[in-house]
Formats: sequence, C-alpha cells, structure tokens
Amino acid sequence: MTILIPEEYPKKLIDKNGKRLDGRALDELRPFSCKIGVLANADGSAYVEHGKNKIYAGVYGPREVHPRHLARPDRGIIRVDYRMTTFSVHERKSPAPNRREREISKIIEDALAPTLFLELYPNSAIEVYVQVIAADGGTRCASTTAASLALADAGLPLKSLVAAVAAGKADGEIILDLGDLEDKAGTADVPAAVRMIDEEFTLLQFDGEMTPEEFEKSIKLIKKGAREIFAKQTAAIKEKFDTVRKETEEENKKIEKLVPPEEKITHASGTKEEEKAGEEKSDKAEEIKEEKEDPSDTKEEEKKPKKEKEEKKSEENK
Ligand code: UDP
Repeated sequence: MTILIPEEYPKKLIDKNGKRLDGRALDELRPFSCKIGVLANADGSAYVEHGKNKIYAGVYGPREVHPRHLARPDRGIIRVDYRMTTFSVHERKSPAPNRREREISKIIEDALAPTLFLELYPNSAIEVYVQVIAADGGTRCASTTAASLALADAGLPLKSLVAAVAAGKADGEIILDLGDLEDKAGTADVPAAVRMIDEEFTLLQFDGEMTPEEFEKSIKLIKKGAREIFAKQTAAIKEKFDTVRKETEEENKKIEKLVPPEEKITHASGTKEEEKAGEEKSDKAEEIKEEKEDPSDTKEEEKKPKKEKEEKKSEENK
C-alpha cells in the first residue's frame, strides 16, 4: 500500500463509465464477509472483513460494573472499547487510546443500545471489545456490524441485529460504502447504523456538503447496503448453529453406541423368573426387617402373657 498525502489524491475518483477506482459501481458494497464464535475465551465474538478492514469483536457479560459508580440500579449499561492496533494503518498508530477511539467507542455504544433489553440487567454491564487489525475507511461502521454479531453470538436476547455502512459523495456522485481514499478525498461522508428489524437508524453522522435530495439518496443507498450486510450476518449465525447442531448430533450418535440397548441390561441381571424370585425374596426380607424395626409392638406382645399370668395367679390366691 502506498502512503498518499492530500496533494497526491487522484484527481478523479469516478471514471467516465461511472466506475470507482476499485472498479465498483456507485451503489456497490466492498467485498464483505463475517463469522461468529471466533474467539474461544469471550462470551460471544465475531470477525468481519469489510473491504480491507479486518475487525474482531468480543463480548463479556452481563457482569458486575467496574468502576461501580457507573452502575445503574434500574438497568444494565453497554460499554464499548474500540481500538485500532498499532499496525492497522499506514502510519504507526500510538498504542495509547486517543480521543478518536473514545468517540467511536461511544458512537458504537449508542448504535447498539437500542437493540438490547438493558432493563433486564440492573447493576450490570455488557462489555464489547473491538480490535481493528487492518483499517481501510469506515471502521466505525464495520466495527458496529461486528459488535452486533458478537452480541448475538453471546446469546443475549436482541431486538434486532444492526448493520452499518456509510454513503458519501465523490466527483458530484452519491456513492455507497466509501473506502479509505474516497473517505479522505471525497466531499461528504455519512456513516450510519441501521436496526434491521424496523430499519430505524441508530447511528447517523454527517461530514461534508450535500443537497437534501442527495442526502435522501444517501439514506436509500445506506438501507440497500445494510440489507446486503444483514443477509450475510444472518447467514453467519445460521452457519454457526448448523455446525453446532451437526456436532451435537454426531456426539449423540457416539453416546448411543456406548450405551447398551435395553434388552442387554435385562439379560445382564438375569432371566425374568430370576428377577421375580429376587423381588419375592426382597419382599420377605422387608417384612422381617419391619418386624425387627418395631420394638414397641414386640415388647407389648411379650408383656401380654406375663400380665395375664399375673392376673390369673392373683385370682387363684384370692
Ligand atoms: N486512519 C488512519 N490513522 C488513524 C485513524 C484513521 O490512517 O489514526 C484511517 C483509517 O483507514 C480509517 C480512515 O482513516 O478507516 C478513516 O478514519 P475515520 O476517523 O473517518 O473513521 P472510520 O471511517 O474508520 O470510521
């Protein structure tokens, strides 16, 4: 990858055939793929490749809030920590968290909160950690998409998945899903997150200049892109649970082979007559045991003839 400085940005981002620098149509997404359950140690996780963005998201919780003063007695909170790795961009990024990362963390929190039932988790926090391994423009959107998948993978009840993508303007055209160069050299950028159940926007930012008509067109393009991402998100969830189901079925088959069938168990303990005889024996044993175990009755019985004898004797004496 070459490092570009503003003076070296290409003069044209869209050619005369309406194709972009990477050959995409104006309303075309970058290649997108995603997977869930990618981190063994998190409660839920996802990996997203969106263009050249490579992003991991891991979820923990709901769990106790630290620091405790952030806890809310009536509901849970969601905390997102978005980080770009030092090697994710052209120029080495300082490993220390910066203002941009804190701002994007907050944006992702706000984009995801309306999909959660936070009232179910008083005094608790759902923690989402996002690591951008490689950045190529639109990382806040790709991170939101990944974080939403990781929440689903954690098994948290969700109102909806969130799919996020930007629209923007370059060379006077409205375009979908800006790459790094289009983001920097274009004239407007509208990153957005869409709650897919009702297509409500949970994130909408705006940077640059557009007419109201162009803005309307951008919103339509964002919804189109979000639907395509959503289809991939649901496919990723289905793929994981299909795999889990297959593995469970195979495990069950192995267990069935190990457990002997019912007749074998009967045979092992003897024939039916033997079993019946055994039952009768044990019944008798129970009776004897009961007799032994009732000392009060036995003593009374023993006492009876003695009493009777004594009474007889005293009558005779009289
Ligand atoms: N970027 C960079 N260095 C940084 C921050 C960002 O090279 O310290 C690049 C990265 O490719 C990012 C792009 O600039 O995707 C656009 O960043 P922006 O702040 O607009 O956020 P994003 O579009 O990633 O959500």
